[in-house]
Amino acid sequence: PDPSSRSQALHTRAKRTLPGGNTRTTVYLSPYPVYAAHGAGCRVHDVDGNELIDCINNFTALIHGHAHPVLAAAAHRQIDLGTAFGMPTESEIALAELLAERVPGIEHIRFTNSGTEAVMMALKAARAYTGRPRIAKVEGAYHGSYDYAETSLDASPANWGDAAAPASVAHSQGTPQGVTSDVVVLPFNDCQATEALLRAHGASLAGVLIDLLPNRVGLIPASAEYLLMLRRVTAELGILLIIDEVITLRLAPGGAQSRLGVTPDLTTVGKIMGGGFPVGGVAGRADVMAVFDPSGGRPAVPHGGTFSANPVSMVSGLAAMQLLDDAAYAKLDRHGDMLRLGLNQAFADACIAGQATGLGSLVKLHLKTGRLSNYRDAYPSPEQARAMARFNREMLNRGVLMASYGLIALSTPMRDQDIAQIIETAHEALNVLRREEVL
Ligand code: PMP
Repeated sequence: PDPSSRSQALHTRAKRTLPGGNTRTTVYLSPYPVYAAHGAGCRVHDVDGNELIDCINNFTALIHGHAHPVLAAAAHRQIDLGTAFGMPTESEIALAELLAERVPGIEHIRFTNSGTEAVMMALKAARAYTGRPRIAKVEGAYHGSYDYAETSLDASPANWGDAAAPASVAHSQGTPQGVTSDVVVLPFNDCQATEALLRAHGASLAGVLIDLLPNRVGLIPASAEYLLMLRRVTAELGILLIIDEVITLRLAPGGAQSRLGVTPDLTTVGKIMGGGFPVGGVAGRADVMAVFDPSGGRPAVPHGGTFSANPVSMVSGLAAMQLLDDAAYAKLDRHGDMLRLGLNQAFADACIAGQATGLGSLVKLHLKTGRLSNYRDAYPSPEQARAMARFNREMLNRGVLMASYGLIALSTPMRDQDIAQIIETAHEALNVLRREEVL
């Protein structure tokens, strides 16, 4: 605690009107968070005047960093024309066209205000389309805060249950039991166990919800065999395959589904496609998306949203997506590879057991070695979690902002020297961990 810190003073003030001084659990930091003042490119300044290289980019959403002039100009133009109407605007058609063109699984799309809403609407669409009540999702995977989608997220080892049939564990206290009994939890990358679960519960399952590079499962990709099995078995059993690309749309023009070669029935998107503004989208095959179609009377799934498809998000998002050409993705991939390589070298140099996982511009640090293929493998021990929090603080104190649990998301304004700076800082932070025998 530093009495001269503006961040600390703001946190003290925040505690009077926000629970624990916080309005977004993800950004909580003890004893107090660092408050942002402004950002440009890949750098952000805090309210105490410190400059940080931003490796979290609003939890992967800002693929072009902060205040990109093209995105800012698009947003400013729209703000001057009006920010939201009780009417549709042309801007929603343009963004829908771009996404349908790029993403294999997208024929039709409905815009939402967040990824949480997109996932919620995808699950409702799957239920309405199939007439079945239950959903399946991967153990440990995060999909926002809809009750069903947050089941078995961050469950602690005591609640895991059988590895081949993980327990369905409520995330929030007070969740009705009906929610957990309507969710089947799948062990990631375990083909045999997952196929057995799908066959056992198939008749009641509306959809399988999966993120192909799930952050909370260790940022490990789904194996090719797992995806082939999922596509084959869901098609056979009449279960919709729902790929959550809220984060992974940043991996390729067509998202992780194009990169890993599987086409789902429904796709959820968000984050980068809002150009820095709130956004989400539920999308997929036209016949499934017809559950939202109001043209024949009341649709099977009514869906509104006061700020859904607001033109500020739409025009900024379109500008952001248009900037993402092949060269931009190639650079992000190259920087991701450089960073994973450099961080793995840093672990080796510091003689600390650790590794960097991920794909393209998404990187995750683990303070453990060995092959990681699912949530249980990647789950940190209490000592590893404490050491990661300490590592994060050492990085922050040296000017590198990442997620406290080790997630890094790169942005297009980053240059080779920025990646080198992140690696050099990780060397220093790991040396502190080694010197102080934190692990
Ligand atoms: N799905 C995934 C895979 C996510 O990572 C997130 C958010 N990090 C969401 C859904 C929810 O998105 P939002 O925070 O926009 O509600």
